[in-house]
Amino acid sequence: MTIAANDSSLSSWVLVSPESDFPIQNLPMGIFSRRDESVSVGVAIGDYVLDVRELASLGYLSALEIDNSVFSSQHLNRFISLGQPVWRAFRERISELLNKSNQELQSNEDHIKDVLIPKNEVSMHMPVRVGDYTDFYSSIEHATNVGTMFRDPENALLPNWKHIPVGYHGRASSIISSGIDIERPKGQTKADDAEAPSFGPTRLLDFELEMAFILGKENELGTPVSTAEAEDHIFGMVLFNDWSARDIQKWEYVPLGPFLAKSFASSASPWVVLMDALEPFRVSGPTQDPPVLPYLQYDGDKNYDINLEVFIQPDNSEPVRVCESNFKYMYWNMAQQLAHQTINGCNVRIGDLYGSGTISGSDKGSYGSMLELSWKGTNPISMNDGSERKFIQDGDTVIMKGHAEKNGIRIGFGEVSTKVLPAR
Ligand code: CA
Repeated sequence: MTIAANDSSLSSWVLVSPESDFPIQNLPMGIFSRRDESVSVGVAIGDYVLDVRELASLGYLSALEIDNSVFSSQHLNRFISLGQPVWRAFRERISELLNKSNQELQSNEDHIKDVLIPKNEVSMHMPVRVGDYTDFYSSIEHATNVGTMFRDPENALLPNWKHIPVGYHGRASSIISSGIDIERPKGQTKADDAEAPSFGPTRLLDFELEMAFILGKENELGTPVSTAEAEDHIFGMVLFNDWSARDIQKWEYVPLGPFLAKSFASSASPWVVLMDALEPFRVSGPTQDPPVLPYLQYDGDKNYDINLEVFIQPDNSEPVRVCESNFKYMYWNMAQQLAHQTINGCNVRIGDLYGSGTISGSDKGSYGSMLELSWKGTNPISMNDGSERKFIQDGDTVIMKGHAEKNGIRIGFGEVSTKVLPAR
């Protein structure tokens, strides 16, 4: 598929540095507010946020025939509900207006002042109202590492793992945007040698490096979405830190899976990169052996080459990169995840969020959680201030970044950054 807005020869009259995540070929969407003002839909370009509400009120988007109130919504859900042809037309129009060969906006200094805001003058918010949240477990390296640590290295994967994109239903209410602090959660834990459980702050707070896709088109109850149809149902992607309390998880997860160990918070990056912008970065996924059941089979390249990084920044110290991974490692792809989610007839809704599961690669530096990086705490990681980390400590900020790059074009996600405060 050729998409004009992806053309690598395009450049914008807005200054965009080569290291920026947000060149004219990206144009991710989010929800922002200026100081003391109500929220608006925005598009990121370089170090600026394009105020789409203002842009629409000045008439620049009139040909799209979108009700302008869509752009002053609290979330992107209303825009998403307009459907993929509108997402595409919108992105093409924004690309046109920001193109240096187009004079419409470029030549109007008053309008530029109204619509182009330095990003350090805005606050970003959760881009979508998440109705339902599903989290998968789709990295074979991650599942193998966890199975090796907690069960049997010879049989690290459970018998279902290569047949089912394993997942569970998470908690949508506690999904938060980047920049919101979390408090160390409390709960029940039980040490192996203890007779009874005890209650208190988690000792094993962990991040999970994930990406998440946002559902863009609904299906009717009873009507599954096939792998071939799945991509029409996906609006875009964000970075996702699926916080986990390992000691709480260990005690509670049998027989129904994780519960309070995961539901205290999950952090999402504020800019949604549309699937159209990621089109040039498709790659083939790993060979699935044994072959999967027919409803999970698919054609074409369904993985995406997206570089991922995790940093830990202790209080009053520099961030240290602890992980470099890539979304292309995923064993199960998004089309398979959505086909599996709906194969029983379950309906999905606009704004639903689907986490990939922890994204680990094969080498030790690519593991997507402290559980794996420190190998259950046996291999601590050094910080610049001389301290060590087995898991995440109070005062630490965990920062995840991601970008795809090809032909000199960098399509980035910005970051998701969350500071951990002491337990209340
Ligand atoms: Ca997870």
